[in-house]
Parts: sequence; structure tokens; C-alpha cells
Amino acid sequence: MFELQDVMSGNQENLSIHGSLAGPKKPVFQSAQHDNRQCEQNDLFVAITGARVDGHRFIPAIARAGVTGALCTTPSKDVPDSFLQLVVPDVVKALQATARARVQRQPGTIKIGITGSSGKTTTKEAIAAVLGSVAPTLKTYASYNNELGYPLTLLRLEAEHRYAVLEMGAEWVGELRGLCETIACPDWSVITTVGAAHLKHFGSLENVAIAKSELVQVLSPEGIALLNYDDPVVRAMKEKTQARVIYYGQSDGAMVRGRHVEERGLLGSRFTLCIEDEEVPVQLRLPGTHGITTALAAAAVGYAANVPLENIRESLENLSSVQGRGEIKVSAGPNGSTLVDDTYNSIRQSIIAMTQAMQATPQVPLGKRWAVLGELLEQGEHTMDEHIASGLALAGKVDYLVVLGDFARYFAEGAMQAGMPAEHIYVFSVDPANASEVEDGKRAVVQLLKERVHPEDLVLVKGSRGMRMETMLSMF
Ligand code: ATP
Ligand code: MG
Repeated sequence: MFELQDVMSGNQENLSIHGSLAGPKKPVFQSAQHDNRQCEQNDLFVAITGARVDGHRFIPAIARAGVTGALCTTPSKDVPDSFLQLVVPDVVKALQATARARVQRQPGTIKIGITGSSGKTTTKEAIAAVLGSVAPTLKTYASYNNELGYPLTLLRLEAEHRYAVLEMGAEWVGELRGLCETIACPDWSVITTVGAAHLKHFGSLENVAIAKSELVQVLSPEGIALLNYDDPVVRAMKEKTQARVIYYGQSDGAMVRGRHVEERGLLGSRFTLCIEDEEVPVQLRLPGTHGITTALAAAAVGYAANVPLENIRESLENLSSVQGRGEIKVSAGPNGSTLVDDTYNSIRQSIIAMTQAMQATPQVPLGKRWAVLGELLEQGEHTMDEHIASGLALAGKVDYLVVLGDFARYFAEGAMQAGMPAEHIYVFSVDPANASEVEDGKRAVVQLLKERVHPEDLVLVKGSRGMRMETMLSMF
């Protein structure tokens, strides 16, 4: 919730107000909303001029629907007198300045920033569950983690919120530092993993590490850096921060540690959560060893916030996969097989994590494991290598491989190099930039799966966001 004063305090010189401010009270906005379909009456609509759609064109309809006002660069004439238009030269900058003003009014809320190449959203949900068990907690909606999503999240801050759990994404070096400097710095930062995401922009894994470490560099000495001890690149970020460091992980040296791990692959895991001299058994539903990493990150934040161990355990045990991130759907695969819906996104490290989880799953002896993989996008000059390395790593973890895309054939090449029999691999070549070709390719994949998959099999479906692999699921 924020006030007109928050908008004004950031942009007084450049702001002009159109529409009446009549009424007993100055407007208070429930939240800021850039998606016209989600805009509700007490919201401030934020008119973003995008490459394809200009939000300004929705202003008249929104005004007629009774929404309080809009933040925009050009006022619309076709609106009722009572509709408030806050006109600024740069909507995104004004939104960010408003969020900054709002956050500064509430210094008591502990802001927890989460970044990493994978697992941000899942970790955000887990942390919010642990903290939410003891105090009112704001969390990022979906993956609203960039220059727009971050301020939009912060503008939903309420006076009662003791914690704000904030997903923070980066596609280039300097982006996280920029979010911190222009909008708000976290008090505590959580780093999940460093992997091959957005390599096209970053250029190299070294740059990914530099970019992610910005979130611990900005912390003050009173802050806390929560680092994944099992990822050597994340572990080394201790050198980059003046904040207190809490390591979480499964190896010796982690302060918040998972021990006696019993991996059950897609069925989750059992482990003992050890924090200082206390320990408690945890039964986790999140799949894979990466699910344990997520749980330990949340436990570490709980430890930092003095959440009782029993609350931490209960919150972790109630976690389930976020939509499209390792959801296990019994009978939803082709021919009634078990579907592993990991369609949300894909990079090499997450392919390895999920196929490892499939391999570790205790299963009826006759069942086969299938990996249906869409191309890895945004990998720039690393595209071929990332596909080959993924193929090399997944061979032996699954029995059959089905790939869709153009460079996707290099998944097959890697898998064959590692000894996967060619007759267990199916390549569907389509141009990822041609949407109708991709959809035709998906239909062909589904047809193949319906011919080959048995009810007792496990079928993983996964691909980069741009491949929209989820559209295949309704065809099974
Ligand atoms: P985005 O940048 O797209 O918002 P994200 O970082 O928020 O992604 P999630 O949506 O939580 O990540 O998870 C995306 C995928 O990453 C999951 O479906 C899973 O395959 C994989 N994943 C999650 N956690 C890990 C981990 N710790 N290590 C490797 N892979 C992981
Ligand atoms: Mg996310």
C-alpha cells in the first residue's frame, strides 16, 4: 500500500497531476499494477510503453472500470474527471522512485533479496513460508524480479509486514547493483547457484558470478549474506562482503546443514536439519537434491530470524513444487504415465538436477525414464557447448531422450558421445524462432510419445521459457 505522497516525493519537479483530487482523503493505492487485466479499483495503473504494446491505450477502459488512477507519460482525454493521471517524463523511473520513497518510510521491515541462476522463485516461496510462520511477510508475486517487478513488489508493502522476501534477477553485470542503488538494498541476501543462465548477455560464467555477487557486496556490516556452501562459486562470495556470512548446504563447513540425507529423487527426501547444536528430522516433498538446497536456504533464513526449529521443520515439510518447477503429475503423461512438469525454464545445471532426481527415484522395475527437452535459448556463443555438455551429463540418468529445436540436436550428440544408444534418441528439428513450426514439432513429439511410452514410465518435459514446452502437456 502506498500514498500519493510517495509518488510525489520521488518526482516533485517533473510530476503533473490531472484529474480531481476531490474527496475527504488523499488517495491511497493498494498496489501498482502494469497488467491492465489484473488492475483493481484501488490500484495505480502503471502505463508501460513496451516494444509491442503501449499500456497507455488501456487507460480509458481502466478509468471507466473505476480504477483510481494511472501513472503515465501522456494523459488520456477520454477519462472521467475524477480519474487521477500522474504524468511523468519516465514511467519506469517514477515507479522506482515511488517504491524507494515507500520503502524508506518503513525501515523496520527486514528485506531479504534472493538471487542465483536457478531456484530463486522456489527459494523465495520456501523462505516466505518459514518467515510467514512467525510474522506477516510480503513476498514477490510470481517471478517479478526485474526493474519493473522489483518496485511493483515493494509497493505492496503493508505497515504490518515484518519481512519482505524479494526475488531479484539479473541478466547483465551491474543490474542488481542498480536495483539496490535506485530502489532498495536488501538487509539480508541469499545466493542460490551460479549457472549458465542468460549467457548470451553475460558472455561467461565468470560474469554471472560477478553479477550475482553484487547482491552481497551491497550489504552493510550489519547485514547477513546467506550463501550456498555446496556451490564453490557461491561459497567464495564470502570474500566480497562485509556482512556476516551464514553458509547453508550438505557438506562439512555449512552452519545450517542437511545430514544423513536419504534421497528419493522425485519423491523428495529425508534428512536431518542441523543448526548449531540442535537437530530435527525433515521429510521434504520438493524433488531432487536441489530441493534440499532450497530447503536449507530457507532454514538458514529462519535461523537468522530466530524462527523456532519446529516452525522451520513444519514449513519445510509443507512445501510443494511451484507450478512448472518439478511438479509430479501421476497419470498426466502420455498413455497415463507419470509426468514431471519442469516446463518453466531450463539451463544445463537444472537439466542435470532434474535428470539426477529421476535417476534417484525408486520406481517400478519396468518403468523407463524419458527426458523431453526443448532447446536452450539465450546461450549466445556457448549454445553448442551447453547442449553437448547437457547431453553428456544426462546420458545414463534417463533411458530415452527426445529433443526439439535447432541446436537441440547437440543434446543428442552429447548423449551419444557418453554412450547413449542412438535408437533411444529422437531429434525433432524446428526453428525456435518460428512459433508455428515449434507447435507442429510438439505435435509430432506427442505422437511419438503416445506410440512409445508405457503407463509405468516417467516423462520429464523441460525447455527454455521461450520454447513454451507447457503447451505440449494438454496434448497428452
Ligand atoms: P527465473 O530466473 O526464470 O525466474 P528461478 O531462478 O526463479 O528462475 P525457479 O523458477 O525456482 O528458478 O526454478 C527453475 C528451475 O530451476 C526448476 O524447474 C528446476 O529445474 C531448477 N532448479 C531449482 N533449484 C535449483 C538448484 N538449486 N540447482 C539447480 N537447478 C535448480
Ligand atoms: Mg523466478
